[in-house]
Amino acid sequence: MAEMYDVVIIGGGPAGLTSALYNSRARLKTLVLEKTKLGGQIALTHEIANFPGAIEGSGEEPSGAELIARMADQARKFGAEIMVGKEVVSLDLEGKVKVIKCQDGSEFQCYAVICANGAEPRAIGCPGEEDLKGKGVSYCATCDGAFFEDLEVYVVGGGNSAVEEALFLTTFARKVTIIQNLSELTASAIAVEQAENNPKIDYIFNSVVTEIKGDGLVESMVIKNVETEETQLIEADEEDGTFGIFVFIGYVPKTDLYQGKLTLNDWGYLETTDSLETSMSGVFAAGDIRPKLLRQVVTATGDGATAAFAVQRYVEKMKS
Ligand SMILES: Cc1cc2nc3c(=O)[nH]c(=O)nc-3n(C[C@H](O)[C@H](O)[C@H](O)COP(=O)(O)OP(=O)(O)OC[C@H]3O[C@@H](n4cnc5c(N)ncnc54)[C@H](O)[C@@H]3O)c2cc1C
Repeated sequence: MAEMYDVVIIGGGPAGLTSALYNSRARLKTLVLEKTKLGGQIALTHEIANFPGAIEGSGEEPSGAELIARMADQARKFGAEIMVGKEVVSLDLEGKVKVIKCQDGSEFQCYAVICANGAEPRAIGCPGEEDLKGKGVSYCATCDGAFFEDLEVYVVGGGNSAVEEALFLTTFARKVTIIQNLSELTASAIAVEQAENNPKIDYIFNSVVTEIKGDGLVESMVIKNVETEETQLIEADEEDGTFGIFVFIGYVPKTDLYQGKLTLNDWGYLETTDSLETSMSGVFAAGDIRPKLLRQVVTATGDGATAAFAVQRYVEKMKS
């Protein structure tokens, strides 16, 4: 017989762990199911300098892994159960009691579900990218831009986020080159105008990155012109020894599990109400999995708290 919980939270990133803290503190029987390891995307970053209270340069700013370990400890302290290595593979969400199944055959029941599976930045998919992630290859200018003070930076992509992030990166970098696969930028007119007026920004059009190379840090990359098929090796300035590659070619929400069960928007994100309930009663969504302007720890944790509060009210109603 599957164990019954008040709430099961899918995903042990910042959103899921914050929901766990709020729900367990409200005395709800709370379970977090995490497929790989706790932390989600934030476990990838060395330093979180933009979470309130983490002061850059203080020597006390936590790494992603440290911040997550603290969040998990805090939730466990109030009684939340956190299971790692549990990938949720199927769901029965329609009844008053929801049923959740994991890849290892384990099954759980609950009144409410919080979907906090997150999203992942779309990768280029070229050789070297995975190995040099966090070592010059980044998907977050807000997070990693400051590490490229006075260095050269390449931005991959030509849409709104790419151009806006390129503008932001000029605060730190000596030079920012946008690599776009098309013959022009596809960002809004105002963003394009701002970029064109910024003397630090340069462009390589009709080109894609086909390989990233480096021993410990990015040292060079190969780009290919999609019209002429010609390739070009871009190497780090000798004095710098490295450069940054920021990839902004979209996000991929992890919503496969919910297709056909819950309403997704045109980009595949889970639609929610203001109280973060999805199209199914008793099923809530928090963090990067839902549509939002800014995908950061601070917004994910905010969602986690809101969803948990809404769950608390929902479960009280179900049990009364
Ligand atoms: C390289 C990088 C650096 C970043 N640096 C910063 C920073 O410095 N500051 C900042 O504020 N933000 C930063 N961000 C953004 C931040 O990490 C995200 O906005 C935040 O992690 C979103 O939290 P989340 O809980 O919604 O999702 P995620 O962090 O994506 O967590 C989702 C979790 O759900 C799990 N999961 C998915 N599917 C299943 C399933 N079927 N079953 C069980 N578990 C599942 C995943 O394994 C994952 O652990 C960074 C992002 C990246 C990629």
